[in-house]
Amino acid sequence: MNLILMGLPGAGKGTQAEKIVDTYNIPHISTGDMFREAIKNETELGLKAKSFIDAGDLVPDEVTNGIVKERLSQKDTDKGFLLDGFPRTLDQTKALDQMLKDLNKQIDAVIEIQVAEDVLVERLAGRFICRNCGATYHKIFNPTKVEETCDRCGGHEFYQREDDKPETVKNRLAVNVKASEPILAFYKEAGLLYPVDGDRDIDAVFADVQKIIQK
Ligand code: ADP
Ligand code: ADP
Ligand code: ZN
Repeated sequence: MNLILMGLPGAGKGTQAEKIVDTYNIPHISTGDMFREAIKNETELGLKAKSFIDAGDLVPDEVTNGIVKERLSQKDTDKGFLLDGFPRTLDQTKALDQMLKDLNKQIDAVIEIQVAEDVLVERLAGRFICRNCGATYHKIFNPTKVEETCDRCGGHEFYQREDDKPETVKNRLAVNVKASEPILAFYKEAGLLYPVDGDRDIDAVFADVQKIIQK
């Protein structure tokens, strides 16, 4: 099962992705996570990506396409994969199409989590993440069950993302709204697009996601 998860920043891609990969046991390919890991490790890729991410802009397509191509060539994606945060431009969409052709794979469904922009701003402002396993929480909407303890791995250290500051969030949303329109049109045309109302509680959204996957 080869899936793409789409949605603006804060729509709940990471949150739903965790549930999907835990349930269906397929690798989670998040370009955002790969960039943050590279920045943390101060690799060449990290150095290239950092200034764009800090400004809320997109990392250039040739950089992003390269890391996805490499990742999709790895054996563990043969049983399926979940792409989260990629493609984010029409150029990336076309590059992905070509990569998949070369690898003899195809996308089964594109799940688009829809949430109004004012809700997204609130979600990003309260987002915090487990330093150990990457699980995502929200101060009000999705706190850990036990205070300062990760539900998923028991970790006690959390952080907030630098690019979730209100100053960066506005630009990120604008950039992503504009870039996503032609991608959604592309997948709609291909008959692969499945929208989900993301402005409900996490389990209700996941129930709809599962319905789509089971089809
Ligand atoms: P969110 O969906 O919360 O914005 P991500 O973790 O997917 O967060 O992305 C964080 C940042 O990483 C983006 O703002 C962008 O700078 C960069 N990024 C992630 N995926 C892509 C992509 N496919 N193309 C270009 N830049 C990307
Ligand atoms: P994305 O990966 O699309 O940027 P996240 O999964 O990181 O989004 O979610 C953004 C924030 O919103 C996080 O703090 C998360 O805990 C919270 N969140 C995710 N889904 C929901 C939901 N259905 N209702 C309320 N808050 C949510
Ligand atoms: Zn954790």
